[in-house]
Amino acid sequence: MRPPFVIAVDGPAASGKGTISSDLSAHYRLPMLDTGLLYRAVGVILKRQGGDLDDARSAAQVARDLQAGDLDDDDFRTREAGECASRVAVHPLVRAALLDLQQTFAKRSGGSVIDGRDIGTVIAPHAPAKLYVTADPEVRAERRFKQLKGRGEDVVFAEILEDIRRRDARDGGRADSPMVQAPDAVLLDTSQMTIERAIDAARRIVEAARARWENSQ
Ligand code: C5P
Repeated sequence: MRPPFVIAVDGPAASGKGTISSDLSAHYRLPMLDTGLLYRAVGVILKRQGGDLDDARSAAQVARDLQAGDLDDDDFRTREAGECASRVAVHPLVRAALLDLQQTFAKRSGGSVIDGRDIGTVIAPHAPAKLYVTADPEVRAERRFKQLKGRGEDVVFAEILEDIRRRDARDGGRADSPMVQAPDAVLLDTSQMTIERAIDAARRIVEAARARWENSQ
């Protein structure tokens, strides 16, 4: 049987994968799950409760208690939330607690767009379309800097670049579900691209995958 048409979009912070995923979701009329938001929610809620980000058990409890309605919170979009997210994301207990929700989403019969770090490798390894979106750290830091400034955060470029490098190392170096390009994912390096060109390239990759999927049994 043909699997649902899942578009798995992985890659590091500020690579453009969020914007690309939103575009693909609108273009193909597919529901979207931003899995980074789940880890951000766990980190921020745990911190609000006065918990320790390095304590896997309490982080996993927050992950188990997470409700879909909890995700709509501007506090999850800050620089600090990204850092908290990547710290709780190293715990296998946290990843296990969030697995069901993500895999259930991936099984939706009409298909979906799922954005994260381990979607093409762990959450939806059979996804018919997989993209790995990346860009040079300096380019990503510049984008994130502008984005956070635009939201009124008081940020320093050098610190944002440092955040990006630290997060890349932590997300790529962890033992459980590290951030890595799936062997069958198409690499999209957006370093030299405007967002319009990156979206165009992403749509073309997905079109090719969709044609293969439509022709499969
Ligand atoms: O994509 P976003 O920047 O919102 O992700 C925040 C953090 O959540 C990442 O740096 C990563 O540590 C973690 N994450 C993850 N697996 C995912 C999505 C996000 O480990 N599928």
